[in-house]
Amino acid sequence: MAKNGPVMDESRQVAFDSGAAEARRLFAALSEKTGDPPGITRIAYGDGERIAFELAAEAAQAWGAAIDHDPAGNQFITLPGSDRERCMLIGSHMDTVAHGGNFDGAAGVVLGLAVQAALVAEDRKPPFDLRVVCLRAEESCWFPHSYIGSKTALGRLDPTVLDDVRRSDSGRSLAEHMREEGFDPAAVSEGRCLIDAARVVAYLEPHIEQGPVLVSEDIPVGLVGAIRGSFRYRQARCLGQYAHSGATPSGMRHDAVVAAADLIVAVQALWAELESAGHDLAITFGQVGTDPAQHSFSKVAGEVGFCLDVRSQSEDTLGLVAGRIDTLAAEIGSRHGVRFDLGPISGSDPAPMSKAMLDMMERVAGRIGLATRTMTSGAGHDAATFAHAGIPSGMVFIRNDNGSHNPEEHMDMADFDRALALFLGLMDEPAEAWAAIASAEGT
Ligand SMILES: [Zn+2]
Repeated sequence: MAKNGPVMDESRQVAFDSGAAEARRLFAALSEKTGDPPGITRIAYGDGERIAFELAAEAAQAWGAAIDHDPAGNQFITLPGSDRERCMLIGSHMDTVAHGGNFDGAAGVVLGLAVQAALVAEDRKPPFDLRVVCLRAEESCWFPHSYIGSKTALGRLDPTVLDDVRRSDSGRSLAEHMREEGFDPAAVSEGRCLIDAARVVAYLEPHIEQGPVLVSEDIPVGLVGAIRGSFRYRQARCLGQYAHSGATPSGMRHDAVVAAADLIVAVQALWAELESAGHDLAITFGQVGTDPAQHSFSKVAGEVGFCLDVRSQSEDTLGLVAGRIDTLAAEIGSRHGVRFDLGPISGSDPAPMSKAMLDMMERVAGRIGLATRTMTSGAGHDAATFAHAGIPSGMVFIRNDNGSHNPEEHMDMADFDRALALFLGLMDEPAEAWAAIASAEGT
């Protein structure tokens, strides 16, 4: 077998091959039908997403899976299990950013369908109903809100989000787009959904890695321990005073550029300090700029606008950093005679994945000879919504080159196959082992 595993027993090979073939067929159909050069576009509640949902449903009709939609249009493809009272979910979103890649999101759904195809080919039932979940609208580029699909799937969407408009093209509201696609925003606002969290043994989300870690370490599959939470200041400002560059002595300046630069350097040092003390943390000043309407070559800058993005898997660390940034802003502001206005704060809570689920995945990877590493997800995913709803959740990252949200995104099908082998190995775990995951979560 190829480098980095897995080792498979021969009786499983035929079933595995039909799952792998189904995946290749689906990826090719998705690429052909939702291609939008350069890359792929599947607009949330638009053509591309609808086509992707239809392709997934058509594929599963070949093996007689049941297909349901909740009031928000999330799609559930169910293969009956030995125990029909409970279910396991494998899924992800099917929308993309504009001119993105074919794998971000869709790989999770395709992998779930490949597992179903393999089980059917082997005439084997999963331990519980296996529901592949196709989620809507995960990418926040369409409607200014993340995880709309997973929130509606769990009856947890704040109803005011239904009024958010798709600024990227139509200018019409989420509710209108839902209705247009044949779904029921009124039921969504009442929290009606198809998932009964108490019946769900686990939610598993396979997803391409969006960073360079697996490629650089030559490891095909990552097992996610936690999804980082965040806080963001998207409209922060440093307010000083515009002045003539030649006529204003250094001691009399209120230079917003110098003060903002000081803050950036101090926050970078804070990151280094906390990271060396063992904190999980990532801090980014993604946008920094003077005001083009007022700035000039020969002017001391009176204002700098900036964005600050802080992520960690620990709520305590996020709280600690927010406090330290406030202190630094006050100190640096008074030293330079400027004022920092950090503006509104937004963000998300960290989501630890199920430790028991992670242990099971490590055990199965060891059994099939698959090289993995545990890692933290710096990007947000639907799995965070499931974890916040109290459902034991796990994420598997598949090695992927060139990041994501671009046409160059690149997953080797050999790595997809390795993840498929891991999931088929999980289906071999006895019902008691799965039940233990649910009870571990309750402790
Ligand atoms: Zn994604």
